[in-house]
Order: sequence, then C-alpha cells, then structure tokens
Amino acid sequence: MAEFRVRFLEHVERTQSVASFRFKLDLAMDFIPGQFAQIIFDEENRANKQLNKYLSFSSSPDKPYLELTKRLSSSDFCKKLLALKEGDELLFKGPMGHCVFDPSCERIGFLIGGIGITPVISILEHIVAHDLKVDAHLLYSNLSDEDIAFKPELDDWSKLATNIRIEHTVVNRTKQGSPCFVGMITKEFVLQQMADYKDRVFYLFGPPAMVEAMKAICAQINCDPAKVKTENFVGY
Ligand SMILES: Cc1cc2nc3c(=O)[nH]c(=O)nc-3n(C[C@H](O)[C@H](O)[C@H](O)COP(=O)(O)OP(=O)(O)OC[C@H]3O[C@@H](n4cnc5c(N)ncnc54)[C@H](O)[C@@H]3O)c2cc1C
Repeated sequence: MAEFRVRFLEHVERTQSVASFRFKLDLAMDFIPGQFAQIIFDEENRANKQLNKYLSFSSSPDKPYLELTKRLSSSDFCKKLLALKEGDELLFKGPMGHCVFDPSCERIGFLIGGIGITPVISILEHIVAHDLKVDAHLLYSNLSDEDIAFKPELDDWSKLATNIRIEHTVVNRTKQGSPCFVGMITKEFVLQQMADYKDRVFYLFGPPAMVEAMKAICAQINCDPAKVKTENFVGY
C-alpha cells in the first residue's frame, strides 16, 4: 500500500460539528471517488488506532487538493487534526476501498445519514465536474437543518444538474420554511421518494449502525444484494 506526504492547506467548517481538512500533495495520488485513506499521526507505532484513523475523501480526484471531512470529537486524533497549521506535513496511506463510483452504472441511489455523506460528496462532485450522465438520487438524513453538511454544494448541484436529485430529511426541523422532510430514512420514505429504486445500484456509507439499518431496508424492498454496495465507517 502506497504512502504519501501531504501538506496541510486549510480547514473548512461545514456545520458546528463537522469540518473538512484540505491537503496539498507533493506527488500525485490517484483515487476513485468513494475511497478513503489512513491518516497517520503516529509514524513510530503504526498499530496506534487512536492516532492513525481512516477518513474518506470528500473531494473529487479532479481538485487541486485532497479533502477529508471529520465529525468533530474530543479525541486526540481530532485534536491533532484541528491543530494542523498551513504547511504542516502529514502521512497518508492509501487510497483504499472497493465501494467506489462505477461510471458504467446508469442509475445510482444513496441512503445516507450524517457523516456518511463524505464519499458521496466526492462522487457527486466528480459527476458534476465531468458532466456525466449517471442519474444519482440521494436521500440524506440528519438530526436538524443545522446539521446538514455540504448543504450549499448539494443545493447547487441539484439545481445545476438535472441528473442529480436530493431529498433531505431531519429528525427535528429547526429552520422556518425548511424544505426538509421530518423523520428518519424508513422503508416507506424510500418507496415514496425513489419509485425507481429497483433500477438503481445503492451505495450505503457511514457508521455501522446506519449502514446496517439501510441494508435492512434494501433487503425489505427486495433490492438485488449484488446491487447494494456498502462501506462501514468502523470506529463509530
Ligand atoms: C473506511 C472508513 C471510512 C471512514 N470515513 C470517515 C469519514 O469520512 N469521516 C469521519 O468522521 N469518520 C470516518 N471514519 C471513522 C473514523 O475513522 C473514526 O473512527 C471516527 O471519525 C471517530 O474518530 P474520533 O477520533 O472522533 O473517535 P472517538 O471520539 O474516540 O470515538 C468515536 C465514537 O465513539 C464514541 N466513544 C469513544 N470512546 C468511547 C467509550 N469509551 N465509550 C463509549 N463511546 C465511546 C464517541 O462518543 C464517538 O461517537 C471512517 C472509518 C472507516 C473504517
């Protein structure tokens, strides 16, 4: 597995509890949207799971920087990310992961909650950048309107590209006039919003509990298991 030195550029606040971290590469690192890398703060002890963690790319490979997005916590790993200053060097191992964008799929569906959005952003940004004809439909659930990471980008893409459709659902509607549905992603919600679900290849990314719940919905509505791709964010 290849390793790369990257230089920290900047961090971008997405919500109160989610931030993106951008890095410049000294060497080109090709990756496929959907993939992730291991971020290594403890080079001496590669087995240190507290300081060496996996994060998905939240930028498309076309961007002049690599972006990762993290749900913020009080962990030492997170503290180290937040303490990075422009120009600081960091070691990445990767890219890794097989739950990746496949341009030969004509119709794809995403059932995503919270931080699971990161690789979806990479995939959608890639579709938009290349004006690909893939039809993408995202159902994105969050706790409240304020918790929707990448809302401006998602709004822009769904306006700009007729082949990108997005429905937001929140547990608590916290903005007046919010266009979000209220509730979690349920079997009924999927059937209601994604009538053509049988024609789609599903991508389920996120914390294991969310991926399991979405997998169960796919099974209940008789999706072909071969058309359901999953990536668990183990560590949550
Ligand atoms: C393939 C892959 C891709 C991933 N992509 C992303 C990504 O894009 N973005 C992202 O944010 N994460 C991603 N992750 C998860 C990431 O690697 C971290 O595990 C995660 O971000 C939590 O890191 P942390 O340092 O904040 O953890 P911590 O804060 O140490 O813990 C994580 C969770 O466990 C809880 N917890 C911790 N310790 C305890 C305890 N003793 N008792 C009870 N609960 C506890 C915390 O409340 C928290 O919810 C990915 C993981 C994998 C495997």
